[in-house]
Amino acid sequence: MPARSATLPLIALDGPSGVGKSTTARGVARALGWDYLDTGAMYRAVTLAVTRAGTDPADQAALNRVLADLSLALEGSRVFLAGEDVSEAIRSPEVTRAVSRVSAEPRVREVMVEQQRAIGQRGRWVVDGRDIGTVVFREACCKIFLTASPEARAHRRYLELDAKGSAPTFEEVLADLQRRDAADSTRAVAPLRKADDALELDSSHLSLEAVVAQIVDHHRLHG
Ligand code: C5P
Repeated sequence: MPARSATLPLIALDGPSGVGKSTTARGVARALGWDYLDTGAMYRAVTLAVTRAGTDPADQAALNRVLADLSLALEGSRVFLAGEDVSEAIRSPEVTRAVSRVSAEPRVREVMVEQQRAIGQRGRWVVDGRDIGTVVFREACCKIFLTASPEARAHRRYLELDAKGSAPTFEEVLADLQRRDAADSTRAVAPLRKADDALELDSSHLSLEAVVAQIVDHHRLHG
C-alpha cells in the first residue's frame, strides 16, 4: 500500500448508533462541497448478503465465500448488491439485529476497510462510522466523535420510526440502541472509541444545524 499523507483532507465522524451521524455528515459534506461515505451502510449490505445466504458469520469458510462473491456499490445515498438496489432492505429490523455480529468478524472488517480506503484516498470526503478516526483514516485532518445520551438518541430514533409507521415502544428502541452500543464498544477488532485527536461533541441539546456549523467551524480552524 502506498504511504498515506499525514493529514488527509477528510472528516472522520464517529459515534454510537442513533446519534445522527449520517444526517450530520450529509450536512457537513453539503456545506463543504465534499462527498459523503456512509460506512454503516456498507456493513449493513454485507450483513444482508450474509443473512440472505443463510450463513453463520462464525463459519469462516462460508463467510469467505460470501465476501469473495460480494459485489457492493455505492451511488450517492443508494446502495447496490450485485446491481440490485438494497437501500431500503439494509435498514430492515432483521439486518439491524444482525449487523453488530457480522461487523465484529475480522475478515469482514478487513474487506470493508480496504474498500473504504480505496474510496476516500484522495480526500474531500466526510466519512461516518465507528472506527474511521481510529483505524480507517487515522491520517484524517479532522476527527469528530459525536455523542448524545442513550435517552436522547432513543427518543430521536423512536420519533423517526413512529413517523414511518413502525411500532416499537420507546423502551424497545432504547434497549436495541444499548445492545448495539455494548456490542460495538466491546468487540475485539476496531471497537467504537474516540480517537485521541478527535473533538468530542455532545449533541443531546443541540440542533442538527448547530452541530453541522460547529464541525464546519472546527474544520476551517484546524483542518
Ligand atoms: O451507522 P449504522 O448504525 O448504520 O451502522 C450499523 C452497524 O454497522 C453498527 O451498529 C456497527 O455494528 C457497524 N459499523 C461498524 N463500523 C463502521 C460503521 C458501522 O462496525 N465503521
